[in-house]
Amino acid sequence: MAHASLDKRDPTRKPGKTTRPRVRVLLPLPFPGPFDYAVPDSLADAGLRPGAIVAVPLGRRTETGVVWDNDSILPPEFAPPPMPAVADGRLKPVTTLLDLPPLPDGLRRFVDWVAAYTLSPPGMVLAMALRTTATTPTAPVLGWTVADPLPPDLRETPTRRKVLEIVSPHGPLTAAEIARRAGVGVGVVRGLADAGALRHTPMAAPAAFALPDPDHGPPVLTGQQADAAHSLRDLATRGGFSVTLLEGVTGSGKTEIYMEAIAACLARGRQALVLLPEIALSSQWTGRFARRFGAEPALWHSDLGPRLRRITWRAVADGEAPVVVGARSALFLPFPDLGLIIVDEEHETAFKQEDGVTYHARDMAVVRARVAGAPVVLVSATPSLETLANVGAGRYRHLVLTARHGGATMPEVRTIDMRAHPPERGLFLSPVLTEAITAATGRGEQAMLFLNRRGYAPLTLCRTCGHRMQCPNCTAWLVEHRVRQILTCHHCGYQEPVPPACPQCNAEASLTPIGPGVERITEEARATFPDLRIQVMASDTLPGPAATADAVARIARREIDLVIGTQIVAKGWHFPHLTLVGVVDADLGLGGGDLRAAERTVQLLHQVAGRAGRAEAPGQVLLQSYTPDHPVMQALVSGDFEAFMRQEAEQRRPGFWPPFGRLAALIVSADTPAAADATARALGHAAPHGEGLQVLGPAPAPLAILRGRHRRRLLLRTRRDVAVQPLLRHWLSLVKPERGARIDVDIDPVSFL
Ligand code: ADP
Ligand code: ZN
Repeated sequence: MAHASLDKRDPTRKPGKTTRPRVRVLLPLPFPGPFDYAVPDSLADAGLRPGAIVAVPLGRRTETGVVWDNDSILPPEFAPPPMPAVADGRLKPVTTLLDLPPLPDGLRRFVDWVAAYTLSPPGMVLAMALRTTATTPTAPVLGWTVADPLPPDLRETPTRRKVLEIVSPHGPLTAAEIARRAGVGVGVVRGLADAGALRHTPMAAPAAFALPDPDHGPPVLTGQQADAAHSLRDLATRGGFSVTLLEGVTGSGKTEIYMEAIAACLARGRQALVLLPEIALSSQWTGRFARRFGAEPALWHSDLGPRLRRITWRAVADGEAPVVVGARSALFLPFPDLGLIIVDEEHETAFKQEDGVTYHARDMAVVRARVAGAPVVLVSATPSLETLANVGAGRYRHLVLTARHGGATMPEVRTIDMRAHPPERGLFLSPVLTEAITAATGRGEQAMLFLNRRGYAPLTLCRTCGHRMQCPNCTAWLVEHRVRQILTCHHCGYQEPVPPACPQCNAEASLTPIGPGVERITEEARATFPDLRIQVMASDTLPGPAATADAVARIARREIDLVIGTQIVAKGWHFPHLTLVGVVDADLGLGGGDLRAAERTVQLLHQVAGRAGRAEAPGQVLLQSYTPDHPVMQALVSGDFEAFMRQEAEQRRPGFWPPFGRLAALIVSADTPAAADATARALGHAAPHGEGLQVLGPAPAPLAILRGRHRRRLLLRTRRDVAVQPLLRHWLSLVKPERGARIDVDIDPVSFL
């Protein structure tokens, strides 16, 4: 690795002979471990204890790092090999101690743990904990205040007066904010500044996050709800590590109940973290939280602007953000006093991070809780088989809610056999479904169509020569997005205009869309139901949480009759007037031979179905399927999720498939097929042998080419009692990737592409 040349270390020098005071500093970079630095006299009294955030020299640069612990918390077989010691004379001194709260103990241990478990360089995990400009001291943000006195010769206009009226009680404000509030151009603000009427002023440090009040608006809980809430309150009050699965049908009040655990955690003065799979959900969630606690929680996700990011990170570190709701990366925030973690929709695959450090946020939340000595609650209507297996083995507690709140009934689920009730030629909605939509909307209720596929059509084909439009960089078809008039690759983002003629045979007007995406269903719905007010919800039509919140508000205000969406509509939304859900292609997720295809389809469709009939009017769910007898359809119709999961378990148990065994994937990617093959073969030759383990592959990945890189996969499958990390560490040490090739490790893989 490159670090050896970055600073000239002497690996032959024996440790133990050193006398200069030194500290180990972990940098947020892909080195195998922390580096040693000398403690300069100027900092000798500062006490550079583990966790201190410091600036250090690295080559010619200055980097921010964290003083790391001397003893690994990990068992030796999991710990990375020790870094060679450096001679006193070669040690470089720490530059400065930054004025930031130290990285808490629990977070440092968590970083070490995640690195060891995922076989990632610890610095790359630390980078997630420092991924904020909080650690790069920046100039204070400047805003504008009104000059006092105003310049005597100031020319006043109505727009100028408006700006002054807004700024004087609320300043300092940024120019953009003033322009927005006053409804004027930024030029007006600049004009006033040039005239000396506005003054540049540092913005005050933001107020700490408002304190949620545990007693603000507690719900009246009933029967099962009260028991479950009591149990969770108790765990949060007592503290200590525990894992609880809170399982309950959609609309049973799970959110209401885990808010009680948060209340208990707050009453103890400790911090709570809530992980959501989809940050688009946060708007409805924060609204609910505010009604319960009289204050907004802090938010954490990748769309946060740099300023809010810095403020939030700091507030968490100072213990001034009592509740954080966020995406998986919130696990790496510097909570000094974490008292509770909630993982909502724990079965969601969105919790698995697939690039950079690949980790499963649900599993890592359990680790984080253990390190913090705090309870964690996993919440779902359709828990993952992994979590159910942990319940079965007695490792996790289990709380169950069997009924919807307030007497709302579970929706009735039926399949539409598409062989018996086919749509008209060229269309995708069966007459059975369109009639149901007409009936529901005729009663003034709302309906929803769900299709988990963005764009207009997943495949474009030449009717003359059969040519299929393919991505030049990936083993994938190009997806037509008609609104934007492009063909695009959903894997690499490549796009091109829809060509007027077939690029293969030059036939004009011969390219034909095959199959539906959500845009095409929308087109069909507009033609079939010209009078209905339609809202499309797909990640590319709703850029960001604000647009999503808007759409959700319109639906809640009943300005919409028919919602059409991709998986974003499946999430935990509460739409009280929605009574009909139509699934356009219930068979969609079943192909592909993925280990969890059936489980995932049941979870997703059950969740979509759960949007129906959440208030008084009963709900109805119609599944368009060509395989209505498939166990997945049967499970959805009967609602017997438990029986389905028992069957799933029996299929996976004999072969030691997860959760009854462990999996790790090795993904080789290279510039050329030859380099990919050679590296994959070398891995195959060096593969471990032994009791209770098996290596599958190498084989071309289903996505054999991705972003122009050629990909091969190997899969290590072991019994549960085999520790895969030491095995993998040894295996990888035996193989040197070919030029232009790399090997990525994915522990507990979720995607097999
Ligand atoms: P889940 O998370 O299980 O889907 P929610 O917590 O969202 O269920 O509850 C469904 C709806 O019922 C929400 O509007 C919620 O506010 C309401 N609700 C649930 N339990 C109660 C209760 N005890 N009192 C008042 N409203 C409740
Ligand atoms: Zn592509």
